[in-house]
Amino acid sequence: MPHYKIAIVGAGPAGYFTAQALQNAQNEELTFSIDMFERLPTMWGLVRSGVAPDHPKIKSVAKVFEKVAAEPNFRLFGNVEVGRDLDIEEICPRYDAIVMCTGSSVGKKLGIPGEDLTGSLSAAEFVPWYNGHPDFANVEVPLDGETAVVIGAGNVAMDCARILGINPIELDATDTAEHALAALHASKIRTVYIAGRRGPEHAAFTAPELRELPKLEHTNVVIDADAVHAAHERAEAAGEIEKHLASNLEAWRLIAEHPHGGHERTMEFRFLSTPKEIKGVDRVEEVVFGINEIKGGKVVDTGETYSIKTNLVVSAIGYYAEHIKGISFRDGKVENDNGRVLGTNIYTVGWAKRGPSGVIGTNKSDASDVVKLLIEDLDPEPKNGGDITVVIPQAITIIDQAGWSKINAAEIAAGEPLGKPRVKEVEIAKLIALAE
Ligand code: NAP
Repeated sequence: MPHYKIAIVGAGPAGYFTAQALQNAQNEELTFSIDMFERLPTMWGLVRSGVAPDHPKIKSVAKVFEKVAAEPNFRLFGNVEVGRDLDIEEICPRYDAIVMCTGSSVGKKLGIPGEDLTGSLSAAEFVPWYNGHPDFANVEVPLDGETAVVIGAGNVAMDCARILGINPIELDATDTAEHALAALHASKIRTVYIAGRRGPEHAAFTAPELRELPKLEHTNVVIDADAVHAAHERAEAAGEIEKHLASNLEAWRLIAEHPHGGHERTMEFRFLSTPKEIKGVDRVEEVVFGINEIKGGKVVDTGETYSIKTNLVVSAIGYYAEHIKGISFRDGKVENDNGRVLGTNIYTVGWAKRGPSGVIGTNKSDASDVVKLLIEDLDPEPKNGGDITVVIPQAITIIDQAGWSKINAAEIAAGEPLGKPRVKEVEIAKLIALAE
């Protein structure tokens, strides 16, 4: 019975769903050993360091990941960075296939003057900061001004705006990183603007995210009723309104009609606003927006501008993949053909394959599609290239599944007396110590 060895690089949703698809594909004639490599001592990728802490239900998928990891054909190599500690060239001959599930972690740039001023951040820094990613624990997030501006009209922008705009007491019982929770409690920010360059009808927010806004207990949520009305009219004029747009337009209507709660905190949507410049001397002081209009279905610059005084700008306008030595990248993704890296035994799944789109569950079907191709491509004779452990540098402390389980249990135990799901440890050395 042929037994194949598969390496998965990246312990996020794409990685675990790939392992699950491999496990599910096993039968009497086909079995797999799965080795998963992860550069951090902590697992679950975006489920740990991306999903907003006030959305704990989305994180329950981690139970599925742990079930996959508990199978006897699964080995974990945490704290091992492929491309640095271990070269792709060392991995390829030892496995029948390698699946790159390394995501898309670098924030796209606006490319406007002032973007590099202190106080101008990417969501790719801000989100892992509040979620306790060890590489971002020391990001400087100035919360001393009264206003923040979030650029982008997608669900990541919405998460950033909510974290800045809700009363931090709503985060006390969550797994928000302790450093971020303390900073948010001291925050002076009371108004968060969310700016989209097109109309409300074009926003990438999804309806469930919009529908939760009027339910916020301590934050006024504001959108100009005329802007919503105009969006509706434009959408109708453009033809039949598809289901997801109809839900979004309805959600916008509810927000526009929702009474101002008289709260101290406000989240306000501004559409048809393109960021032109971030101004300031030593730090962000103002964002200048070009005002757009929609003519003949196209977004057109009116030539007029307005500005918002602020000390904090978070741009949430998409991501691209961080390059890994030995892998070819193109357009911000691993260069691939439906998940196959042509001419190699390498495959890719998730945001590394298709770019930063879709929800966590999207990776499940993505993984199963790519695993089908991988199985089609397998040689009749497994490679038998020798065990990987001999080439991992001895100085590296490998976090195996037992070690990660200890970290996980210690964090959960630390959260228990505080009524939190966990308290995240953010220092690599301390995480490693917890695993030992
Ligand atoms: P996204 O949904 O693609 O949204 C990106 C936004 O950035 C769009 O509104 C886009 O506007 C805007 N943008 C791009 N370039 C810009 C520029 N130069 N200036 C101004 N605006 C610009 O991406 P995302 O928010 O990063 O989310 C990534 C994926 O994760 C999405 O599929 C999202 O649904 C998912 N996600 C889901 C959840 C959830 O389910 N709760 C939470 C977070 C993320 P245009 O449309 O005009 O280009």
